[in-house]
Amino acid sequence: VGVFYRPLEKINAVIETYPKGIAGFRSYLDLMATKPEIEDALDARPAPALRGAVRFEGVTFGYDPARPVLRGIDLAVEPGQTIALVGPSGAGKTTLCSLLPRFYDVQGGRITIDGIDIRHMTLASLRAQIGLVQQDVFLFAGTMRENIAYGRLGASDEEIMQAARRARLDALIAEMPAGLDTLIGERGVKLSGGQKQRMAIARIFLMNPPILILDEATSALDTETERAIQQALAELAQGRTTLVIAHRLATIRDADRIVVVTTDGIAEQGTHQDLLARPGPYRRLHEAQFTEAS
Ligand code: ATP
Repeated sequence: VGVFYRPLEKINAVIETYPKGIAGFRSYLDLMATKPEIEDALDARPAPALRGAVRFEGVTFGYDPARPVLRGIDLAVEPGQTIALVGPSGAGKTTLCSLLPRFYDVQGGRITIDGIDIRHMTLASLRAQIGLVQQDVFLFAGTMRENIAYGRLGASDEEIMQAARRARLDALIAEMPAGLDTLIGERGVKLSGGQKQRMAIARIFLMNPPILILDEATSALDTETERAIQQALAELAQGRTTLVIAHRLATIRDADRIVVVTTDGIAEQGTHQDLLARPGPYRRLHEAQFTEAS
């Protein structure tokens, strides 16, 4: 990554990740007030194009270091694999994911991607390779084109339309008064929750990162929208290392591996079949949460 690209990337990464990032459930200002800004180490180097072998090695972290949320977490994800993080609220699933783009730095242990400690990579080059899909989608007042192209500034119309198709947005764009030139936001067309999520998915198709963090929506959408989004997300996860904070049974079942996170750490991991076959926390969680859903 040349020097000239860095400001652009930085703007992209900062706008995308800070106000609405994983940690963006809390507001931007909260975040800025409570957390020292993570900066590039003096010897940080731009990350190469990553394959996406992610390793958490003995990772310890607490918002208050005296009270760790994560203690000695070991987790390995192979390139292209999808893992579903499940577990009770407050166990630390979101926190675990927020360490990968370095919204916070670990206090013990380390996180590597392709064998490189992420603290040795420049933030911009790390974050440019991690796509975030979250419940709260950041859209600005502008055209559909501008909002989708936000995933990769300078994308051509053809690339934008291809991303839109893969995100199942093409029918919506075709129905809009001015297609890609249609204004959205306060003075334009208001998008529904499901449409906003598909905008976020289209952006990530354009961005084409090797690593994906997906914070699944907890709010219910209508069945048809839900199915379209699930299909688009499954396609998006193809060939990318994907960490899903999972709430949907279908996602959990189809993951390469399910990781059960509790306040005591990773309780167990395995496939849906493996875990259901044992009388462990997953089976209990499954019985408690998903009996009605399935
Ligand atoms: P959920 O499924 O409800 O999102 P989770 O498993 O993702 O839960 P986290 O959101 O990671 O859990 O929270 C883990 C713990 O860290 C909780 O006790 C939470 O209150 C605390 N926590 C999360 N974010 C912050 C923050 N920005 N500052 C201080 N404490 C936090």
